[in-house]
Amino acid sequence: MHLLVIEDDARLVRVLRRLLTQDQHIVESATTAAEGLELARDVALDAVILDIGLPDRSGLEVARTLRADGSTVPILMLTARDAVSARVEGLDAGADDYLVKPFAYDELLARLRALGRRPPPRSSLHLAAGPIVLDEAERRVTVDGRDVALSQREYAILECLLRRPGQVLSRDQILDYAWPYGAALTPNTVEAYIHLLREKLGPEAAARIETVRGMGYRLRAG
Ligand code: CA
Repeated sequence: MHLLVIEDDARLVRVLRRLLTQDQHIVESATTAAEGLELARDVALDAVILDIGLPDRSGLEVARTLRADGSTVPILMLTARDAVSARVEGLDAGADDYLVKPFAYDELLARLRALGRRPPPRSSLHLAAGPIVLDEAERRVTVDGRDVALSQREYAILECLLRRPGQVLSRDQILDYAWPYGAALTPNTVEAYIHLLREKLGPEAAARIETVRGMGYRLRAG
């Protein structure tokens, strides 16, 4: 894989560079957000290993900037904090997975392999239920023609529900869909995101996402 490591800890960069190169990866590295973004724009990468704490801008901002630029490169976020909020923040900013420091090198390799297996973007398709329309090509959601700005995870959860209209989906099924790389999140995270999603969709569309007690959620299509 052609990798970019954006990390200001020079010692960690040296170690990662040596180990990853030994494992036949091509490694670029940057010690600031600005340098990293420039490299990410210029080089065709298979994955970015991105530290959250960088001297000029946070890794979260780097992830958001890459996604805003339309980059779909898999991002593995490195975080020093194991708090749920830190993880959700990272994933919400557009990271695909995260690793808490200090981590074992084998764990890093496993995460990179998983990112490499990521399925290609799905072909263009409109999913709809009543006033809700999701355009997969443009990653755009409208309710009664009104644009609704959703975060990446809110979008994924809505997409998951729209793909199986009328079916009850458990919180675990939704977690697997919206967080496919095994992020260690709890089903409560799904509840929090469903709450945000309903608020953004507005009352009429939100009523279509039904809570099925003790089981999960169901999108009413008809
Ligand atoms: Ca750092």
